[in-house]
Amino acid sequence: MKLSHSFVKTLRDAPKDETAKSASYLIRAGFLHKEMAGVYDFLPLGLKTLKNIENIIREELNNIGCEEVQMSALQNPEPWQKSGRWSDQEVDIWFKTKLSAGGELGLAPTHEEPITTLMKTYIKSYKDLPIYAYQFQTKFRNELRAKSGIMRTREFLMKDLYSFCPDEESHTEFYHKVEDAYKRIYERVGLGDCTYQTFASGGIFSKYSHEFQTVLPVGEDTIYFNEDKSIVLNEEVVVPEVLDEFNIKKEDLQTENAAEVGNIFTLKYKYSEPLDLGYTDKDGNKNTVFMGCYGIGVSRVMGVIAEKYADDKGLVWPEEVAPYKFHLVTIGEAAAKLGEELEAAHQDTVLYDDRDLRPGEKFADAELMGLPSRVVISDKTLAEEKAEITDRKTGAQKLLTLDELRDILSKYEKDS
Ligand code: ATP
Ligand code: MG
Repeated sequence: MKLSHSFVKTLRDAPKDETAKSASYLIRAGFLHKEMAGVYDFLPLGLKTLKNIENIIREELNNIGCEEVQMSALQNPEPWQKSGRWSDQEVDIWFKTKLSAGGELGLAPTHEEPITTLMKTYIKSYKDLPIYAYQFQTKFRNELRAKSGIMRTREFLMKDLYSFCPDEESHTEFYHKVEDAYKRIYERVGLGDCTYQTFASGGIFSKYSHEFQTVLPVGEDTIYFNEDKSIVLNEEVVVPEVLDEFNIKKEDLQTENAAEVGNIFTLKYKYSEPLDLGYTDKDGNKNTVFMGCYGIGVSRVMGVIAEKYADDKGLVWPEEVAPYKFHLVTIGEAAAKLGEELEAAHQDTVLYDDRDLRPGEKFADAELMGLPSRVVISDKTLAEEKAEITDRKTGAQKLLTLDELRDILSKYEKDS
């Protein structure tokens, strides 16, 4: 991709009310545009980054047998009334609106009720189970305070997965598969060594739910952990009974701020009972479907990655998430010709800064945008058949021969 082709320009300043470092860089680097508090547009580089995260999640879920759907954002109140979650007293973050034909509808803050209702059409017998269906979908939540850029917004992209099993045993088996898939997802998006599976409050049916919490100074949550981090607890479960159960003392626990990047819940019959989702077993008896739900805040994950790794010069993207792997800058006419050629051959991996700007401005923008490797070819290095490559994260620099550069670009082209 050539930077001169994009309408997006890097900005010197971020909006004054934007306090999170990630949001300020994401806006200045041209990944996001702020519409209003808690509402953002994804621009080409930001959209590509978001899609890379989405694709990692999709691959890992497809690997454990999940099926992708896309449900509607507009919600019929009826199933929500049956579960008790239409009321603003029960759920305080609804966006609701009136139909001009009469009646009310809501903008989905989550999808347990509609997907449970949908499954009534397809689940009749034990032969129809299990079902694992997920989607990437925009959720709407009237959050009292939008915060920290895309880490807490009123409109955000969530991956939500719902499992429908005949019994607890088959549910538990799948639950463990999701735990493993989540570990691989956080690993691949670059958050593997700072994301912990925590014990969280689980509601009425199972003792605990689990959250995935990324250690982050500006995170809204506090996690408690023992020395080797084998036990990590959300704040709400640090109570005497739980401490006794884990055989630990509160004084022995350390704390960190963290951001919730995902969660997994055993729902059991919480929605299948009120919405009457049942199946007939082998003996012809009627049973209730055993459910689970599993969320990941896709746009929040992008914000957390940006916040976690940004330095004083700008963003720093992990390799699998970065919108492009290489940020190419050329200096001089002969080098520019080679630049055009390399960009044309590697359009998915090379971002070529072909704008009519001074090299210093291009280098500063490369640091702001944070692609993993910057490649500089000048007429001078070209005369020696060489190019300079700089690692954005470590600053390590190397001279490559043009053959070596071509090999590296081809390798990434294949991998991407
Ligand atoms: P939180 O405690 O952060 O409000 P939640 O308990 O409401 O999260 P869920 O309803 O289960 O979370 O949503 C699934 C995932 O969606 C969360 O783990 C989080 O990563 C993300 N998420 C939730 N609310 C927001 C929001 N307002 N903006 C961006 N992402 C969000
Ligand atoms: Mg919430």
